[in-house]
Amino acid sequence: MSWQLRSERLTALVVLFLLSACNWVFWQKFIALQQPDSLAAWLFIGVGFVFLFLVFNAILTLLALPYVFKPLISLLLLITPFVVYFMSQYGVMINAEMIQNAAETNHAETRDLLTLKMLSYVVLLGVLPLIALWRTKIEFRPFKQELKVKSLILTGSLLLLGVIAAGFYKDFASVFRNHRELKYLLTPSNYIQASSTYLRKSAALRPVEVKPIGEDAKQGARWGKVTRPSLTVIVVGETARAANFSLNDYERETNPQLKKIPELINFSDFRSCGTDTAVSVPCMFSMFERNDYSDKLAKSHQGLLDILQRAGLAVNWRDNQSGCKGTCDRVPNEQTSAQPDPALCRDGECWDEILLKKIPQQLAQLAEGKQSAVLVLHMMGSHGPAYFKRYPDQFERFKPACKTNQLDKCSQGEIMNSYDNTLVYTDHVLASLIQLLQGQQDKVDTAMVYVSDHGESIGERGLYLHGSPYVIAPDYQTHIPALMWFSPQYQQSRGISASCLKQKAAQPYSHDNLFHSMLGLLDVSTKEYQSKLDLFASCRQP
Ligand SMILES: [Zn+2]
Repeated sequence: MSWQLRSERLTALVVLFLLSACNWVFWQKFIALQQPDSLAAWLFIGVGFVFLFLVFNAILTLLALPYVFKPLISLLLLITPFVVYFMSQYGVMINAEMIQNAAETNHAETRDLLTLKMLSYVVLLGVLPLIALWRTKIEFRPFKQELKVKSLILTGSLLLLGVIAAGFYKDFASVFRNHRELKYLLTPSNYIQASSTYLRKSAALRPVEVKPIGEDAKQGARWGKVTRPSLTVIVVGETARAANFSLNDYERETNPQLKKIPELINFSDFRSCGTDTAVSVPCMFSMFERNDYSDKLAKSHQGLLDILQRAGLAVNWRDNQSGCKGTCDRVPNEQTSAQPDPALCRDGECWDEILLKKIPQQLAQLAEGKQSAVLVLHMMGSHGPAYFKRYPDQFERFKPACKTNQLDKCSQGEIMNSYDNTLVYTDHVLASLIQLLQGQQDKVDTAMVYVSDHGESIGERGLYLHGSPYVIAPDYQTHIPALMWFSPQYQQSRGISASCLKQKAAQPYSHDNLFHSMLGLLDVSTKEYQSKLDLFASCRQP
């Protein structure tokens, strides 16, 4: 069966399909914001629909050309179902950072996101309309006539839009200005705009010249008194939110092992730089503060690890996740999946304990030499939505846990249980790490600094996962756990006092502090160092 349609009719049908079948998340939000309790409010919503119809229709009318129109609509129908699925299932909003995150995700993470439900979205919103589209013969008139019809439609649309704007412009403008999320929910303009921003940014980035920073970096005066090698471990957490750490007074016991370590310092008011890995991780290791930070700046400048290496420290990045996002490009680095351990790895993914495997060996080597080392461990942490895959069975402390990546198949309580179990496992990994560092503290000065990259929404305000635009991101996505531990000898040789730090641990800090604090802690002198951002500065003896 096949049929014929004039180009303008098909255009209108496509727009109607997009606005009604693919935008219920947008309309839900838009209608909720109006709280329609009167005819006037519903009228406003109706006018909003007409307004968007006219705008979309005008744009597609311009693109409704032979040989162009069908492939273009097909492309929209191929992408849109996935976008609609993620918006409706996880409450995600589509901006450039979200596209970047998707582009930089690894295969295992992608696999976690594929579900049967997603398949049904693809069939209903993609495959079936595509079949209908390709069975349709689009009738184009001779060129001049077609041009005339298009001009008529465009003029008519513009006139109508003008009338609507005259009556409602202020209302629309204020709704969209006060609720930026609407822009990120309107499909397909959200992902078209976000992808073009992302592509523009990454095209601008491509021939990137990495500017050296801290070329003057050298070991400071304190190094003259240091007699033993040290190992400073920086642990980059994943998707751990401060609110669910019992160390931060969460009512459930998610830190059963760490709470038994009296020397542990818990920074209870620590904020992330971004709301996703692709922003937060490079930002953490860059000298730029969140307010000035951009992906371009980070990728075109060296970072903390370059400076530490230049100052003579042996730097190493060990990754149990989707890579270091450029931050470890010039230092030795390794991916745990390259040498999987059958006891700790399944289907190309490993539990975070694999990060600790080589530490005893490294400590033994350090003990024999003189050089000090900095080791960065990049955790898989609480990466969702497949929380249940992040921990071995014996860490299923909270039951029943959600055991699928389709969060809508689980109750809120089950999702929270599986998320909290990931934190119980993280607690175990960090406590085991400290135990390893403690075990060798008579030979090597040892320390651990743990900071998560961003938090997570678990159903609050209907949001799941993370990646909300920073300005409107809920606290759950930006308030992150940060923990430190220093052996007594490390404190002594670095001149810092854990008890002093404990007193200041409730003050507000953020990822902005990490760069300068690490330089200060490791006594690397460079003109890039700012003591006002060094959270150790006031707890260090001169
Ligand atoms: Zn992350």
